[in-house]
Amino acid sequence: MVLSIEALTSTYPGHVAVADVNAIIEPGEVVAIVGPNGCGKSTLLRSIARLHRPVAGRVRVGGDDVWRLRPRQVARRLSLLPQQPELPEAMTVAGLVRFGRHPHQGLFRQWSPADEQAVAHALAATGTTGLADRRVDRLSGGQRQRCWLAMALAQQSPLMLLDEPTSMLDMGHQLEVLQLVRKLAGTGRTVVMVVHDVNAAMRFADRLLAMNDGRLVADGSPRQVMNPALIRQLYGVEAEVLISPRSGRPVVVPDALSSYGPLDAAVTRALKEH
Ligand code: ADP
Ligand code: MG
Repeated sequence: MVLSIEALTSTYPGHVAVADVNAIIEPGEVVAIVGPNGCGKSTLLRSIARLHRPVAGRVRVGGDDVWRLRPRQVARRLSLLPQQPELPEAMTVAGLVRFGRHPHQGLFRQWSPADEQAVAHALAATGTTGLADRRVDRLSGGQRQRCWLAMALAQQSPLMLLDEPTSMLDMGHQLEVLQLVRKLAGTGRTVVMVVHDVNAAMRFADRLLAMNDGRLVADGSPRQVMNPALIRQLYGVEAEVLISPRSGRPVVVPDALSSYGPLDAAVTRALKEH
């Protein structure tokens, strides 16, 4: 299902968070959105998922404007794993993952073997089967994150939007989630995810969308778009960009804050005052 983001602009009172973003994302692509804190990544995902109404532009999923579809129709086409999901009180893992089936339920369409199977599959794929009867609010951050991912998986939508799905995970669990994401793309699903770790993004994504100050500043394969100037522009950091001999993908090795970096002047001043 093609995702088409057309001249999208989203604001909060007195602040433009997403400015004139354009991108067409094809089925089966794994796209990573990278960029500094506050550059608009979450707002972009929320605008795509119909949770934040843009002030200009349009989002189409499978050809249809998301604001012209009913919420349930949108939920059958896309799922969003939010950055900081709100947790229902005393919910079990299995209960949470069953929520993912909600868009498939109807007035006359009760819980079915297909629903049960989707839940079981989502639990297995995220390694949370053993946690099914536990309360989500009593799990570790990383376990909880895998449960939310399971819920998004159970929804079985062709387009998955994941906002920092790996930020709270250790190296092993991060790899597990990103490998799972790649497998999903292999079955024709599209994944658009915000990934904080640029190296992980480049290792697992086919395409990077780099944002800065609400704008899309780079769009292409990791090898096409990654270079020291981009790292300087995004993070105010001087870095080496190497190519991994094994994966053939770029790897960023941060060196120092750039003299153009936003923090540098203030930090230098503070250190002098000490
Ligand atoms: P990112 O996910 O890249 O860190 P966000 O999309 O969360 O960035 O935020 C983009 C900008 O919009 C930031 O400057 C942030 O402070 C602001 N912002 C985010 N959410 C709100 C909100 N609910 N109300 C006002 N401003 C917000
Ligand atoms: Mg965010």
